[in-house]
Amino acid sequence: MRLAKRVSTLKPSATLEINAKAGAMKAEGIDIIGFGAGEPDFDTPEHIKKAAIDALKKGYTKYTPVSGINPLKDAIIAKLQRENRLTYNREEVMVSCGAKHALYNIAQAMFEEGMEVIIPAPYWVSYPELILLSGATPVFTDATEEEGFLLTVEKFERAITSRTRALILNYPSNPTGATYDLDTLEGIAEVAIRHNIFIISDEIYEKILYTDFHHISIASLSNKIKELTILVNGLSKAYSMTGWRIGYVAGQKELITAMNNIQSQSTSNPTSFAQYGGVDALNGSQDEVLKMREEFRKRRDYIVRRLNMMKGMSCFNPAGAFYVFPKFSHYYGKLFKGHPIKNSIDMTEYLLKEGRVAVVPGITFGADDYLRLSYATSMKNIEEGLNRIEEALTKLE
Ligand code: PMP
Ligand code: GLU
Repeated sequence: MRLAKRVSTLKPSATLEINAKAGAMKAEGIDIIGFGAGEPDFDTPEHIKKAAIDALKKGYTKYTPVSGINPLKDAIIAKLQRENRLTYNREEVMVSCGAKHALYNIAQAMFEEGMEVIIPAPYWVSYPELILLSGATPVFTDATEEEGFLLTVEKFERAITSRTRALILNYPSNPTGATYDLDTLEGIAEVAIRHNIFIISDEIYEKILYTDFHHISIASLSNKIKELTILVNGLSKAYSMTGWRIGYVAGQKELITAMNNIQSQSTSNPTSFAQYGGVDALNGSQDEVLKMREEFRKRRDYIVRRLNMMKGMSCFNPAGAFYVFPKFSHYYGKLFKGHPIKNSIDMTEYLLKEGRVAVVPGITFGADDYLRLSYATSMKNIEEGLNRIEEALTKLE
């Protein structure tokens, strides 16, 4: 079959693919420990589920406005005001089918051939593909572990050309867990304002942050940078609601209107009763969010310590999110039964087959020396999975 050119090089999401692969092996009865997709292992808090069930019972099972119901928009507006010190009105926010869909809408509404979008590596797997689908060109900057895996103001400025339209910032970051402090955000904002570059600020992990400073939305630094910022967030990670598919965007009215048109011709509204659950997630008690974060923190401390104790390994201490991004390149070039492990893809396959552990290769995040492990799984699994990794590594010579 002849398919459209735009899909000829389109890659599936590596993280979801690993999840599917590990799931299929489990279904065959193979005992796999999954450090693959980033999906909190906790149940959605009860009060949120109850709100969605109540909505179903009340008959809220019909189309809603394309850009989301007003109670959810109002809850988002109140949240952005309360937690991020940002003021938006209803015409400046929009609900989509997950943050990924929000990012897709943004790319379709803003970008086209001839434009460049800067993506700091290591980056989340979907950014380059979403940009390519729009016809624009992703331009990568690299950040080393020594730089804390963060974009520097200098590297940002150096990557800018006359075609640069936007920068994608994601903090706390997937896959590194790194996050920006006020100084760096101010520096980035200053450069963006000077060159008139939009910032797509993906803040989906903002509530999973272990630092003693709070998450800072770059849009809150000044009115000028707010005008250039498209803030992306969603309920998947903070409230363990990955399957509900509720994400949102806040930005200029003109952009929101264009995205609304795209959504009205593609998905229509996000699921009606999921939106009602979303209202309760944002307006209701945040106790469960804090409990989940504390559990993630314990796991992070354990996993970072264990990985750093393994021979030849180094593991950056993430400030947030639920991923670690340890460096495995010490083992590249080593052999297993005569076969060389050359890169992160070989290492991922080796760990899956020999170690029965699913991880995601660093190359899919633009950093081949590394592997990503999600610690959104139980402490018991983490302990067992790390034992398996340690044992598998000792078999390499
Ligand atoms: N941004 C980042 C950085 C992510 O890790 C994810 C995880 N899927 C998303 C966006 C999209 O999340 P969702 O579509 O589930 O809201
Ligand atoms: N964002 C998660 C991850 O990176 C979920 C998978 C996906 O949406 O690609 O693992």
